[in-house]
Amino acid sequence: MAAILLIEDETNVASFIKRGLEEEGFLVDVAYDGAMGLSLACSREYDLLILDVILPQMNGTEVCKRYRENQGFAVPVIMLTALGTTEDIVKGLEFGADDYLVKPFVFRELVARVNVLLRRKGTGFPAKSCEFADLVLNTEKKTVTRAGKNISLTTKEFRLLELLISNPQRVFSRTSILENVWDANFDFNTNIVEVYINYLRNKIDKGFPVKLIHTVIGMGYVLKEADHENQK
Ligand code: CA
Repeated sequence: MAAILLIEDETNVASFIKRGLEEEGFLVDVAYDGAMGLSLACSREYDLLILDVILPQMNGTEVCKRYRENQGFAVPVIMLTALGTTEDIVKGLEFGADDYLVKPFVFRELVARVNVLLRRKGTGFPAKSCEFADLVLNTEKKTVTRAGKNISLTTKEFRLLELLISNPQRVFSRTSILENVWDANFDFNTNIVEVYINYLRNKIDKGFPVKLIHTVIGMGYVLKEADHENQK
């Protein structure tokens, strides 16, 4: 499991990113200023750093520069910058950042970049192929099979199944599904999750004796093999 240090002073942004990344299966520590971030980054082993540019105590580009001087280039760094701060981006990259994202960004994009950098580093996941029961999902080829039978999914259906299969037996709330599969700015009153769960059920479970997608009433959805509880 990859460990990420997030250095971000805006507490609501920090907790949103932390929660989202944890739902993706990462371990996340947060530092709320540059000096604390640098000291944490140098004292513990992380697989990746996410670094805001505008920070109290020490700005992000300075943190990045000192971190590289101290620790070398083994650990990838993603910078978070504000719109229209090309100079910050250039400085960040010169000082050893591997990638950057301009705020506000779509959460999925951050996850995608984190995964790309971790894969490059060699601790990347999710695995190319995830299996659960007789269901196999290949994240590179974007294919899904059940009991050896090809199942064709749309992008959103695929992403939804990818989320569920990333952590079988775990209940994903409607909100966490919305944030992970759609994005944070999505209208939370929508029933789109229910709609897509039904699409997915029709393709994954219909015609198979064992149902894999289960509703946990009032909680969310879970991928698991049928049990004796009376769940849909
Ligand atoms: Ca900031």
